[in-house]
This record gives sequence, C-alpha cells and structure tokens, in this order.
Amino acid sequence: MVIRKAFRFRLEPDETQQALLHQFCGQARFVWNKALELQQRRLERGVPLLRYGDLAKYLTLWRDSEEYGFLRQGSVHTQQQALKRLDQALWEGLDRSNPKGFPGFRKRGVHDSLRYPDPKQIKLDLSGWDEAGRRRLPKIFLPKVGWVKFRNSREIEGTIKNATVTRRAGHWYVSLQVEVEQTPALPPLKVTALDLGVRNLVTLVDGTQIDPLSPLRRFEEKLAWEQRKLSRKKTFSRNWYKQKQRLARLHGRIANIRRDVLQKLTTWLCKNHAVIVVEDLKIRNMTQRTKGTLEAPGTNARAKAGLNKSILDRGWGMLVEMLGYKLAWRYGLLMKVGPRNTSRRCPRCGHTDRANRPDQSTFRCVECGFATHADQVGAYNILSRGMEKLRDEGRDTADASVGWLEALLSSHSPDRLFAEVFGEPGLSPV
Ligand SMILES: [Zn+2]
Repeated sequence: MVIRKAFRFRLEPDETQQALLHQFCGQARFVWNKALELQQRRLERGVPLLRYGDLAKYLTLWRDSEEYGFLRQGSVHTQQQALKRLDQALWEGLDRSNPKGFPGFRKRGVHDSLRYPDPKQIKLDLSGWDEAGRRRLPKIFLPKVGWVKFRNSREIEGTIKNATVTRRAGHWYVSLQVEVEQTPALPPLKVTALDLGVRNLVTLVDGTQIDPLSPLRRFEEKLAWEQRKLSRKKTFSRNWYKQKQRLARLHGRIANIRRDVLQKLTTWLCKNHAVIVVEDLKIRNMTQRTKGTLEAPGTNARAKAGLNKSILDRGWGMLVEMLGYKLAWRYGLLMKVGPRNTSRRCPRCGHTDRANRPDQSTFRCVECGFATHADQVGAYNILSRGMEKLRDEGRDTADASVGWLEALLSSHSPDRLFAEVFGEPGLSPV
C-alpha cells in the first residue's frame, strides 16, 4: 500500500529569495483573482463556468500579453495550481451544503502559498555544512527561486510528489508531500481495549496500567505555582503580561511533552494489536460524572484538577486520533463504542448493577461473585462491545483488503474472550 505523508519544514530564505517568494505569491494571487472575476461575470450572465482546461488557456494568453506579461517571471506551474485550486473551490462552492461557501478574492498576505506540482523540479541537498563545519545547512531547490536553506528537523522518507510553500506568522514554510510504500505487515491478531480512569490512568484489557502522562506530573506543582503568581499580579500590568507569557511557555512545553509521550505509546499499541477499542469520547463527556471525580477540592487540588482536565480533554482526543491513523497504516482497526455501563456490567454473567462497584477500584459481582480490578472490567466490557460491533458491521466498515478479519473474529469468539482475558471459563454472558 502506498500512503501519502507530509513533511513540513521552516524555510530560511535570504532577502532576495524572500522578495521572489512574495512576488510569486502575488502573481498566483493575481491569477486567482483575475480568473475568479471572469467566472463571476459568467455566472451573472448565466453562462456556464469555465473548467480548469479553459482557464489554463486564458493563463497562457495573459502570460503572452503586453499587459500581464509580468506573469512570465514566475513559474507557470504555480500559477496553474492557483487556477486548479480556484476551479475546485468554485465547484465545491456551488454545492450549497458546503460550509466554506463560494471562494472569494485573495488579499495580500492572506493564504499566501505556492504549490510546485512537479517533483522533478524540486531538489534537495542535505550534504551542506556551514563554514565552521558545525551546523548542517540543508537546502531545497525551488524553481525560479533557487537553493533555499531550510531547517531539516525530521528525516524525509519516501518519494517527493509535490511541494507547497506557505507563509504563516511572518515565516516561510515548505510542506513536502511524499509517497511511502508501506508493506502491509499483517498485524498480530491481538485485540485490546483502553479504559480511561480518573487521573488519566489507561488500563488495557489484560490489566496493564499505563500512566502515559506521568512525565507531566512534575509540572502540576509548577503550573499551580505560576498560576497563583499570575493571580496575584495586577491585571494588565507589565508584570502580569510577563507572568502570562511565562505561563504560556510552560503550557507549550507541557503540550510538546504530551505529544511526544502519546506518539510513543500509540506506536507501541498499534505495532502489537490488530484491533483497539476505545470509548467514544463524545458520549463519554456526557457521562463523565458517573465515573467519579477527584477528591474534595482545596485551592491546590482545584489547580491540579484544572491541569488534569486539560490533559484529559486534549490528550485523550489526541491519543484516539493517533491510534486511528497509525492502525490504518498497518491495516488495523480502531473501534469506538458507547461507554454506557461499562464499569458496572459483570463480564462473567452479564449482570449489570451499580452495587457491583462497591468503590472506585473494586469490582465484585453481586450475582455471581466475580471479582477483579474495576478498571480491567471497564476495559474488558469496552473490548467485548467493540468485538460485537466488529462482528455486526465489521465486514462493511473494514477495508476489503483486511483479510485477517475472519480469522480474528473466529479466534476471539464471545465465549473465548472471557477465558482469554481472565484465565477461567466464563458463564457465557448474555
Ligand atoms: Zn456476575
């Protein structure tokens, strides 16, 4: 399977190159606006819109003309790409259900971008070093701009298909779209589910507990501390702004570490499982309260709870998203199920009762006496619900190439699942 990935790097163009990039963006914008005007006039007169092929012919005329001959300074490809995008935006805009609506005229400095569609024209030189031999100076060749330095922050893999240069917040970036041949390694036919408990502890179905955000715990005190410091400053004073900035930097650091940790965890999970079941976040938020909250809040606890909540909200969504695409790369499946009663239902006999949960961490079935750690019960119920869903609709939702599905389902039949997880025969739950 060939998948597409994007690598985005910060460009470091010199002044001449910056001027050129600005100029070429201006030309692409000019072409966009000119063609949009043309199309609008046709719409007003009730004449059918021109398609890209016709617009491209206009572009040739403009480039050859006296009046718009300045367009010849820029690469024809990037100008054609502007027309292609306009063409697409127009046709999408005609569809009234499209929330983006009809495309508008481009303004200077807004959405400045250049797309280079021809990979043959894009070259990379990663061999350069600065004069002192200390810093690497990788360069990318962009048609009509020349060799531009860039920060090669990640190793580029795959074959480059196109490049897009954009300007955001005063900096130029290049995004390289590549194609990578992903050998469809058959995922191990293992399944698991994640249960998210209080304090962001993730429990796997085998009882393993992971605290993916433990590297962030050490920030809790610091964050609460800096927050308190902010609250003591006079609002909008110089020191208040300074403190606010310090707080923002701290949040930024936390966000980076969180992303990093979640990347590692999800990579590991997806390498080792074919199917991962999680609770549906949207439904979860509605039922949040039933899961129990943190201890009685003092000021410090409240600040901690604040951090906790932000980790939970953003971290969990991010985790699920990463699982989704990483599993897809490996032909695996992510299933989402409703979280209702997952902590109260007995995995062995199916009896669902609030009384099955005497406290936060214990599960003891009042009907059959089955007892284990409460979080594992949660994970198990999520898993069995996910497998049920897969059995019902998996053949439709799963990619046709997922050849392992049948084998997986037969090796994880409902009555075997319990034995597999808890190591004893089940009572064939209803
Ligand atoms: Zn039971």
